[in-house]
Amino acid sequence: MGPTERQKQILSWLAEEEKLSIAEISKRFNVSEMTIYRDIKPLLEEKKINKTSGGISLVNISQVPPHSCTYCLKDINHRHPVQIITKQGKVEQLCCPHCGLLRYSDIEKQVSQIICHDFLRNTTISAKMAYFLLDSDFQLNCCQPQAITFDSLIDAERFQKGFGGTIWRFDEAVKEVSKRMNGDRSCGCHD
Ligand SMILES: [Zn+2]
Ligand SMILES: [Zn+2]
Repeated sequence: MGPTERQKQILSWLAEEEKLSIAEISKRFNVSEMTIYRDIKPLLEEKKINKTSGGISLVNISQVPPHSCTYCLKDINHRHPVQIITKQGKVEQLCCPHCGLLRYSDIEKQVSQIICHDFLRNTTISAKMAYFLLDSDFQLNCCQPQAITFDSLIDAERFQKGFGGTIWRFDEAVKEVSKRMNGDRSCGCHD
């Protein structure tokens, strides 16, 4: 097994076990501790892992349970969640595009990717390329003002013909939803 495979293995162990000592890792691979230190050096430099007192751990283990929205803390049982991947490699889950937009506006500089789903096809798309339909009559039963995401403008316009609302590009949608919420984190939900 080469350094790259060992690095992958170390990351997957850390994901399950949170913390590992160098001695333990060297025993598992049956290589010297020197080799392990060499293996983890790039992971430390890329800030994928942290040095802890007893060894190493993954960076930024989220305090928020992964099944709740990072922004409004509601349970994620929605069929159109949004994921934000930060430059540190942390994955955040948001309950719906509404919270995705607001969270993005909070931590914009740290965002590496923001991913949502096409409403009709349920395919994964980059939110930055998506069209956002605000204020349509179609109720997602999540946060207000709600945003529905589409991969294509044609689909967004067809949906708009049936259910009303206004279509926005990503940057405009971020500004618009932030402006309307004005710092209120309750997201207009009453449950
Ligand atoms: Zn939310
Ligand atoms: Zn929501």
